[in-house]
Amino acid sequence: MKIICIGRNYSEHIKELANEKPEEPVVFLKPETALVTGNLSVSFPDFTQDLHHEIELVLRISKTGKNIDIKDAGDHFDAIGLGVDFTARDLQAKQKAKGLPWEIAKSFDHSAPVSEFVPKTQFPDLNALVFSLSLNGSERQKGNSADMMFPFDEIISWCSRFFTLQPGDLIFTGTPSGVGPVQRGDRMEGNLEGQKLLDFKIV
Ligand code: MG
Repeated sequence: MKIICIGRNYSEHIKELANEKPEEPVVFLKPETALVTGNLSVSFPDFTQDLHHEIELVLRISKTGKNIDIKDAGDHFDAIGLGVDFTARDLQAKQKAKGLPWEIAKSFDHSAPVSEFVPKTQFPDLNALVFSLSLNGSERQKGNSADMMFPFDEIISWCSRFFTLQPGDLIFTGTPSGVGPVQRGDRMEGNLEGQKLLDFKIV
């Protein structure tokens, strides 16, 4: 399986990182070794001083597809969960300044904790999914899928131009504003439509 991530998909988050608004989705990949499931603890990596949380809605691909039409994209995912796109912001800043790829800042081991998945049929409106992240009990990020610049169907269609989507692949759909640092000992909780799906510690 592969993890495809969309960057810069919420305009407020683009502003907070002083990035340009993209005309096309920004895409990067994480390997399977980035994945953490079952709310297991995440180890703070030894190569960064500035590990940031980015809470994101995650789509689970359920059907193989290549060059998927936007109108058919809904047939290719069956469930939605929450994930944290952990980012070594200090390394990312260095890579950005040199115009180099982001993988060492984004795709390292355990950089993608993911919750259990909820069948998408359980949500009355996929275009208005409210989700949030709390750190040690205080809310840090709150998002709504209504605010995505590239909605789910466009993301799936776009990604499938470059990468064949396969059942079990995951797509991180971008983070809303409020990203910030985490420390060892922090407890992170993620809610989707009032349901707590993420609850893990940084160790
Ligand atoms: Mg992200």
